[in-house]
Amino acid sequence: MEKKNLDWSNLTFGYTKTDKRFVANYTNGAWDNGALIDDDMIVMSECAGVLQYAQTVFEGLKAYETVDGKIVTFRPDLNAQRLHDSAVRLEIPPISEEMFIRSVKETVAANAGFVPPYGTGATLYLRPYIFGINPVIGVKPAEDYQYRIFATPVGPYFKGGVNPIVVKISDFDRAAPHGTGCIKAGLNYAMSLHAIVTAHNEGFAENIYLDPQTRTKIEETGGANLIFTDGKGTLIVPKSGSILPSITRRSLVYVAEHYCGMKIDEREVTLEEVMGGAFSEGGLCGTAAVISPLGKINDHGKEFTFSNGMEEMGPVMTKLRETLTGIQMGTVEAPEGWIVPIEC
Ligand SMILES: *Cc1c(COP(=O)(O)O)cnc(C)c1O
Repeated sequence: MEKKNLDWSNLTFGYTKTDKRFVANYTNGAWDNGALIDDDMIVMSECAGVLQYAQTVFEGLKAYETVDGKIVTFRPDLNAQRLHDSAVRLEIPPISEEMFIRSVKETVAANAGFVPPYGTGATLYLRPYIFGINPVIGVKPAEDYQYRIFATPVGPYFKGGVNPIVVKISDFDRAAPHGTGCIKAGLNYAMSLHAIVTAHNEGFAENIYLDPQTRTKIEETGGANLIFTDGKGTLIVPKSGSILPSITRRSLVYVAEHYCGMKIDEREVTLEEVMGGAFSEGGLCGTAAVISPLGKINDHGKEFTFSNGMEEMGPVMTKLRETLTGIQMGTVEAPEGWIVPIEC
């Protein structure tokens, strides 16, 4: 398919309407097969379950062009699994992995002209989501649901180099113990908006949330998991039942162990050890940025600066990021099944 005439290197992380989206409906207790459609508008009841009680879950993944000009996606089977788990937690009927993968492939193929060329740093971001669509006024799950996936081209997360960021320890909580922190649901983001606006107004790039029970342990940021290194060959990964299982983080753990020869230590990480200098480098990880390096953490005015400082990413995070992006782009051999080609 011929590429659209877009200014690829100046795309932002925003929404651009593309040609086709995939839609499936759940009615009378079953999902239909779904199909590609043209209409980007959704008409629903004013009383739809999603509008009243936020019954919706979502995913985020990207399609992109590799060095040899193929269009691929990265580990979509893990997105299928996570969407399933999220749906079950919110009493939403899950879709099958088969339909998820088919919808990803069809949506990317139908919008192939919007896949940014290799080397621009831009990608085609995919947003699958399921929501309750029939009227719900008494508090209960909806009966009818819609699954959608749309694609939108987005720019490189980092323009002009990867810069370390300053984050604050938030006074707000993200996810209660035994709550919904471990699923990808819009509700986790609605409640984070005030916290992120507050952090931005204070000059911070992001919030680090603590465990709400004791407020002594590091969990994650609003939309990315955290990883640290001690600078002595170990990758330290915060562990908690309310952290969202990031696919990027799980992939980086594999890369650290099997490509970089690092040891992995997945455990509870205290704020005290981080602020006390136990780790030389830290990063935020997620689909959009892969790794975004930590420069400073500010805990109510007390600052800790990682050894890389504010000018550049440290050597360990750089190595991990370059290896994983190499795997994604086809310049480093990928583990079996990680790269899924799209036939256009
Ligand atoms: C989506 C998300 C992440 C990152 O997950 P990836 O699968 O790596 O993109 C991390 N934390 C939260 C809260 C998220 O919603």
